[in-house]
Amino acid sequence: MSKRDYYEVLGVERGADQKDIKKAYRRLAQKYHPDRNPDDDTSAEKFREVSEAYEVLTDSEKRAAYDQFGHAGVDGQGGGGFGGAGAGGFSDIFGDVFGDIFGGGGGRRNPNAPQRGSDLRYNLELDLESAVAGTSVDIRVPRHIECERCDGEGAEPGSTKETCPTCHGHGQVRMQQGFFAVQQTCPTCHGSGQHIKVPCHACHGEGRVRETRTLSVKIPAGVDSGDRIRLNGEGEAGINGGPPGDLYVQVAIKPHHIFEREGRHLQCEVPINFVDAALGGELEVPTLDGRVKLKIPAETQTGKLFRLRGKGVKPVRGGPAGDLLCRVVVETPVKLSEEQKDLLRKFQDSLGGSNAQHSPKKSSFFDGVKKFFEDMKL
Ligand SMILES: [Zn+2]
Ligand SMILES: [Zn+2]
Repeated sequence: MSKRDYYEVLGVERGADQKDIKKAYRRLAQKYHPDRNPDDDTSAEKFREVSEAYEVLTDSEKRAAYDQFGHAGVDGQGGGGFGGAGAGGFSDIFGDVFGDIFGGGGGRRNPNAPQRGSDLRYNLELDLESAVAGTSVDIRVPRHIECERCDGEGAEPGSTKETCPTCHGHGQVRMQQGFFAVQQTCPTCHGSGQHIKVPCHACHGEGRVRETRTLSVKIPAGVDSGDRIRLNGEGEAGINGGPPGDLYVQVAIKPHHIFEREGRHLQCEVPINFVDAALGGELEVPTLDGRVKLKIPAETQTGKLFRLRGKGVKPVRGGPAGDLLCRVVVETPVKLSEEQKDLLRKFQDSLGGSNAQHSPKKSSFFDGVKKFFEDMKL
């Protein structure tokens, strides 16, 4: 089977620049991606073909060889290596942690107009303590930045951009159609009027390179899941001298083993033994800034909530700190010795036949049950 021409595969002209090739590849790769076309051999084949064409045409050396010798110029170099390379190019576009959240600002017309870089989003998981106290975290952000070697120009330093041979620098060409002359954007230079003769070695003429940068992000005290922190200008580099996009750090709070957070309030469960519950006592309860004492009145029932004012979270947008709600859970004693069991039996006897005055809930419950069965008999 003879291979199709790479330019034809991507549907671009022979003079197409990196940007057009990327654009064409992105469109086709999305269309034929195996995830979107499960069990479709034709799409899988097309996806491979598109990836291979992209790999060759975005590598200036391979492209030059292909332009001169056709498939013979690049075949056998990579062998089966295209799959991996194609996949690499693909993840570049479909990054999972990082994604364009606002896209490229549709409807742009002139490909040479300055274009703002894409915004990036970084998903950051924080533990509750750091979110409440505020912290500073280092995050690693892969992104495109302006190429230093060529200052984003795309031309190898020392080489000059030359006047476009097609439009002689006008950026527009006149097409004669019968009696009419039509003005069109130059297909060779896409309106810039310039032609990169020697593409920059570092960025292959794109003017941007991929770089992973470590950024220190200040997390203000009180942030909660769903909050976003914006870092101005830390997104993708702009194109054609456009400003960079922004980086949004999206906060999510990890579950905590003691506290549950509800906005500015915290809640936790505190187990107590039934003697303390009956006689009252003092408990030590945890708060985010150390232990505090909590007085439990006599005859405390399980499930009762105690509110510790101001022991919650100070909200990031201001306002007073919330409360800590402690839910008391009475625990049944376990692993009792014979002696202890004996004491409990004696205690039980001491309550007498009727529990009414000592177990208000139980009495009213069994009264209700009795009434329920009596009503059924009718
Ligand atoms: Zn031109
Ligand atoms: Zn460069």
